[in-house]
Amino acid sequence: MNQYKVVLLDADMTLLDFHRSEREALSKVLAAHGLPCGGGVIAAYSEINDGLWKAMARGETTQSALVVERFARLVKLLGSSEDPEVLNREYEQGLGREGHLLPGALEFCQRLRDGGLELAIATNGLPAAQWGRYRGTGLDRVVPHLLVSVELGAQKPQKEFFDRALAALGVSDRSTVVMVGDGLETDILGANRAGIDSIWYDPAGKPLSGPAVPTFTAASYDGICALLLG
Ligand SMILES: [Mg+2]
Repeated sequence: MNQYKVVLLDADMTLLDFHRSEREALSKVLAAHGLPCGGGVIAAYSEINDGLWKAMARGETTQSALVVERFARLVKLLGSSEDPEVLNREYEQGLGREGHLLPGALEFCQRLRDGGLELAIATNGLPAAQWGRYRGTGLDRVVPHLLVSVELGAQKPQKEFFDRALAALGVSDRSTVVMVGDGLETDILGANRAGIDSIWYDPAGKPLSGPAVPTFTAASYDGICALLLG
């Protein structure tokens, strides 16, 4: 397995506990505007948001539209007249302050780095949120590169995202690159389109579904290390 020299790492739910960040940042914004912020509201937002990100992966909306649309739908659901653009801006700022690593994530990155692999985070998230959490969690001290979709002008699973990410890293031999991530429709499908190998990180043991075909599947950080360092 030592053909790999470069590891592209997904951020959310691969290294970072996005659900916790989302919950905490969202409930603070809603509370600040006098809106209900219980578990039911958070779950409703989450469903709206997930649906819109999937629609974006299918090419049906854009990131700049979806971030406002998710709050437009939420305030409608709550019967509120708050400005969705304001809510989204405050939420994105809050998200950058709510960095929570998944247990063992930093040590996992350190092991890969100590094994001589070049690491880069390759993420579809929003720049303010991703850069804030990258620095706030100390990932920036172990992973030297952060590549964010908005800044690259393309997002996973678009081939262009990977083309631009690899160009930014100065990598030309794609056989030396592996994408590691939990998202079949983003990380793995994108790797397929870009002609690079992939490891589907599947800690919940979900069955494979959809058109994406991972090169490998691993259920734990140890499993990924065994594939990349073994
Ligand atoms: Mg992910």
